[in-house]
Amino acid sequence: MSVSRSQPATLSCVIPCLNESANLNVLLPALMAVLRPLAADYEIIVVDDGSTDATPAAMRDWTQRHPQIVYVQLSRNFGKEAALTAGLEAAAGQVVVCMDADLQHPPALIPRMLERWRDGIEMVYAVRASRAGESFFKRAGTRIFYKLMRTPGGMQVPENAGDFRLMDRAVVDALLQLPERNRFMKGLFAWVGFRSEPMMYEPPQRLYGQSTFRPFKLFRFAVDGLTAFTTWPLRLLSICGSFLSLLSFSYGLYIVIKHLMYGDPVQGWTTLITVVLFFAGVQLISVGVLGEYIARIFGEVKNRPVYLVRRREGQGVGRQQAAQ
Ligand code: UDP
Ligand code: MG
Repeated sequence: MSVSRSQPATLSCVIPCLNESANLNVLLPALMAVLRPLAADYEIIVVDDGSTDATPAAMRDWTQRHPQIVYVQLSRNFGKEAALTAGLEAAAGQVVVCMDADLQHPPALIPRMLERWRDGIEMVYAVRASRAGESFFKRAGTRIFYKLMRTPGGMQVPENAGDFRLMDRAVVDALLQLPERNRFMKGLFAWVGFRSEPMMYEPPQRLYGQSTFRPFKLFRFAVDGLTAFTTWPLRLLSICGSFLSLLSFSYGLYIVIKHLMYGDPVQGWTTLITVVLFFAGVQLISVGVLGEYIARIFGEVKNRPVYLVRRREGQGVGRQQAAQ
C-alpha cells in the first residue's frame, strides 16, 4: 500500500556533537536555509556530548537568536550512540533527521530524502557511494564487520550506511521503545524494520577537526555491535570445542594402538607441550568471548540511564504553544 503524504507539519533534525563548534557555525545556517521551506515548523536539536571547546558558549548564542534551535548538553561524554538517543528522545517532529556535525552529511540531501518520505517510505538512509580516502585496513575491517553482522534469516545491517537518515515518527517511537542500554544504533535502525530505502551519496571530507573514531575505538565499536546483535561467536566456540575434542580423542587412540601393536616407547615431549599450549590458548579465547557477553549482560542489568542531561536551552517545535 502506498501512502502519499504532503509536507510534514513538523521536522526535527538531531545532531550529536563533540568539540564541533567551528563546524556548527557553518552547518547551522546552511541547515536552517534547507529546512525552512521543507516543513511548516522545524527544530534543530544539537546534543553536546561533553564538548570541551567553545560549543556551550556558541550554542547559547545560537539558541538565543533562533528559538527553533535546541541545545541539549549532556553531563559528560557518553559516546555518539547515547547522544543520538538523547536527541531522538528530545525530538518532537513528525519527521526526524539524524546527521553528523562535521558536514560529512550534506544538508542538501534532506529535501530528496523527504520526497521519498512523501511517497510512503518510512526510513531513508544515506549510503556512501565510495570509501575513498580511507585506509586499506579501515576498508577491509568494515567489510569483514558487515559480513560477520549478517545473521542467517535475521536482520541485515546495510553496508556503508551511517547514521545520516530521515525517519518517520513511527520509526522513532519504535526505536525509543527498545529498552537496551547498549545502543548500537546501526543495529537498532536495522532491527526495527519499516519500509526503508537507501540513498547513495558521495561523502565530503570532514570540514574542521579530526574524527574521534580511531582504529582501537572502531574495533571496540564492532565488538559491541557483534555481541549485541549476534550469538554466532558462542556457537562457533561450541563447534570448535567439539571438533578439537574429537581430534584429540582420535590422536590418543592412535598413540595407544601404535604402542600396543609395535611396542613403541611413548615419547613426544614436543607434541605434548604444543598441544597443551594450544588448548590453553583456545580456552583463554573462549573465556574472553564469554566475557564479552557477560560484560554486556552486566551493563544491561545495572539499568543505569543511557545519558544524563546537564542543561537544555531553546524551545524547538511547539514553542508557540509554550509561549502562550
Ligand atoms: N560524536 C559524538 N560523541 C563522540 C564522538 C563523536 O557526539 O563521543 C559526534 C561527532 O561530533 C560528529 C559525529 O559524532 O558529529 C561523527 O563523528 P566523527 O566525524 O568523529 O566520526 P566519523 O565521521 O569518522 O564516523
Ligand atoms: Mg565524520
